Amino acid sequence: MRVLLTNDDGIRAPGLLALAEAFSGAGHAVAVCAPDRQRSASSHAITMGKPLRAASAQVPGADLAWWVDGTPADCASLGLFLLGKAGADLVVSGINCGMNQGGACIYSGTVGAALEGAMCGCQALAVSLCVSHEAGKTVAEYRAAARTALRVAEWALAHPLPRGVIYNLNVPPLPYEALKGVAPGRLAPVFLEDPLYEQVEGGDGQGQSYRYLGAGPALPLDDPDYDTNLTAGGFASLTKLTWDFRLGPDPVKPGDIQLW
Ligand code: MN
Repeated sequence: MRVLLTNDDGIRAPGLLALAEAFSGAGHAVAVCAPDRQRSASSHAITMGKPLRAASAQVPGADLAWWVDGTPADCASLGLFLLGKAGADLVVSGINCGMNQGGACIYSGTVGAALEGAMCGCQALAVSLCVSHEAGKTVAEYRAAARTALRVAEWALAHPLPRGVIYNLNVPPLPYEALKGVAPGRLAPVFLEDPLYEQVEGGDGQGQSYRYLGAGPALPLDDPDYDTNLTAGGFASLTKLTWDFRLGPDPVKPGDIQLW
């Protein structure tokens, strides 16, 4: 397959390097178009009305690579544009450092880049490793997750999705042999935890206090099919996501609103 890799952790992130190594090692043609820096929590932002700079980069295993001073979604769209006729069969975004499950998906640049690839008409897969941002960033964990991503990517191409829909894979930090499998998940309820804006007194280097967003108490999530519970139980979770925010079963219908 011809794969375009991108991410939101930046072009030097270990998760992206692990994907390039795994896909090229399996004989696939790898191209990379990724942000020049950490751009997590960019969601689906794009750069408008100002210059977007791209330059060639070296990424082991990639035939072509560009860094971009834009957002993850910029990178997916621009990468497909730069590939032109060479094209890509699949956009793979990741491997993100940290899960993208439940309500976290709305903030995720990893998911945003994959969605942009899918909106451009390419098949797309977002991949995340369920580690905290403070711990567990070993190369071995990313390599194991990349092996799983490779298998799911090959399966995904045989099970294509409509334009604008992506597969979202979250892998627990386990040795490849210890993974119980890939299981279909439901998105856990929107708020995984209440936001906690910690007050830091006089800590900004200029004597000013500031607030710092951290994770508050987690809500109990009892449904075993929730994506977060699947990975806690040793499975990789697979969901489908789309840009279409309409509420499927209960849309606003003709006659619901009569103000004039
Ligand atoms: Mn990230």
